[in-house]
Amino acid sequence: MTDCLFCKIIARAIPATPVYEDDRMIVIDDINPQAPMHVLIIPKAHIATLNDLGPEHDALVGEMTRRAAAIARERGFTDRGFRTIFNTNREAGQSVFHIHMHALAGRPLGWPPG
Ligand code: AMP
Ligand code: ZN
Repeated sequence: MTDCLFCKIIARAIPATPVYEDDRMIVIDDINPQAPMHVLIIPKAHIATLNDLGPEHDALVGEMTRRAAAIARERGFTDRGFRTIFNTNREAGQSVFHIHMHALAGRPLGWPPG
């Protein structure tokens, strides 16, 4: 078993209640939500950062993006708006080195980000 937190969640070595799951990704609620909706869209493949993406991942990242929009739609945030974020490496605040898209909604989100 890898030491990666999200690989452990995907393998159910750590309990999780997925919001959505298919053969390529899992979506979970963030354990420390920063907005009324704060989900993490996590590919099942272990990819450490966006710097490790190759062209073979283009479809996967597209599906993750469309899944974020679908979950926002299910929760009624299509028109109000939602934000999708990948943090990459230290200055951006990445803490889990298995790529994941944050999708947040349900309150006004400031810009520029902190
Ligand atoms: P990042 O800082 O961009 O790497 O995001 C990692 C996110 O994972 C943070 O928002 C954490 O709150 C979240 N997180 C950490 N552990 C868990 C967990 N066991 N279940 C759900 N979310 C988690
Ligand atoms: Zn992993």
